Amino acid sequence: MISVVIPCYNEEPVLDTLYRRLTEAARTWGEEYEVIAVDDGSLDGTWQKLVEIHQRDGRWRAIRFSRNFGHQTAISAGMAEARGQAVVILDADLQDPPEVVNEFLAKWREGYHVVYGIRRRRKEGLFKKAAYFLFYRILRSIAATPIPVDSGDFCLMDRCVVDILNRMPERNRFVRGLRAWTGFRQIGVEYERQARAAGQPQYTFKKLLQLAIDGIFSFSVWPLRLATRLGLLVSTFAFLGVVFTFLQRIYADWFDKYLGLRPVPGFATTVIAILFLGGVQLICLGIIGEYIGRIYEEVKGRPLWIICDRLDTPPATGPAQTSTGGKA
Ligand code: UDP
Ligand code: MG
Repeated sequence: MISVVIPCYNEEPVLDTLYRRLTEAARTWGEEYEVIAVDDGSLDGTWQKLVEIHQRDGRWRAIRFSRNFGHQTAISAGMAEARGQAVVILDADLQDPPEVVNEFLAKWREGYHVVYGIRRRRKEGLFKKAAYFLFYRILRSIAATPIPVDSGDFCLMDRCVVDILNRMPERNRFVRGLRAWTGFRQIGVEYERQARAAGQPQYTFKKLLQLAIDGIFSFSVWPLRLATRLGLLVSTFAFLGVVFTFLQRIYADWFDKYLGLRPVPGFATTVIAILFLGGVQLICLGIIGEYIGRIYEEVKGRPLWIICDRLDTPPATGPAQTSTGGKA
């Protein structure tokens, strides 16, 4: 059986189309399948819609978060619920066409453990495209684990990979990075990233930026090294400055005659030096802070998500269950 995990946040307008397209596409898979829709604390009628779909089609299961926990957490929760031999991650907005899953399955049957989609072209704004382009290149050049360029969360993972990811206690879940980290046989399949079928993008610029920061800081200690390098660079300049001032004092006549430089009581240089050093120190503190913040998050060990409602097959009876997910 194949499990399809779909994170949904305020996706009411798109769910009917999604249901239709996915059911249509699944006919060609030649596999049993289940869908795990994760309602990431939606504010619109997403949950009602999921209840409706679940009553119509028992293959659709759903869990509902008690609040918005974020896309990556929703994916992680869906993977923890999945029972299939392979898990497909799909965005609700049909930007990842369900028709491509067929190609994923073919590769999976060939023996690949992870098949991820590579976005050949994006139907998105210029700014977003440029930002994505830059982000993936930066990440590639500094990440300790090679993370494939231009591949998002749209993928198929074999049960063995899913089990490993489920056991990972990490809280800053940059799923596409963790996925690459596991190793095994991985391969990319190119596809065209569609425009959103309906509704509004649920990723605000802030959330996207946070995702990018998570990706970089969770998979690289390069920023920490940057701090060291910056410090070294500044110290070198400072040292040269000291030598220069020293010589200028001793050989004041020579400096005056040949370079026209006289020792001037300069406040400006002092102030500039202090400001510059202050800036560098603050940057370095910020970088260290990013890592310490992450350590703090991990140490607290709160559950990664909270499930407040659940639609299961066979339909769950009785009052809504409350459960928490993730590892402590
Ligand atoms: N999403 C989510 N929680 C969030 C934001 C988004 O579960 O806090 C889901 C959303 O419903 C969609 C997927 O993540 O299925 C991708 O979101 P979106 O399409 O807004 O992002 P974009 O395609 O613009 O990167
Ligand atoms: Mg989208």
